[in-house]
Amino acid sequence: MAEISKRVGYICARCGSSNVISDARAQWDARKQQWIVVGHYDSSECLDCEQEERILEVELAPEPQT
Ligand SMILES: [Zn+2]
Repeated sequence: MAEISKRVGYICARCGSSNVISDARAQWDARKQQWIVVGHYDSSECLDCEQEERILEVELAPEPQT
């Protein structure tokens, strides 16, 4: 079963920029030595609009399989 997983992106609802950040919950992974995001809150911000803004989930083309 060669199922290509759906990829999504997030863009600003106002200007369409993908330069957005969101308040997130993260869990520390001691083995990888990095925070693993396990969820995010509704509160989000667009770095281009420089204010809190709604973000939209958009579907991206699948990663090319070579
Ligand atoms: Zn924006």
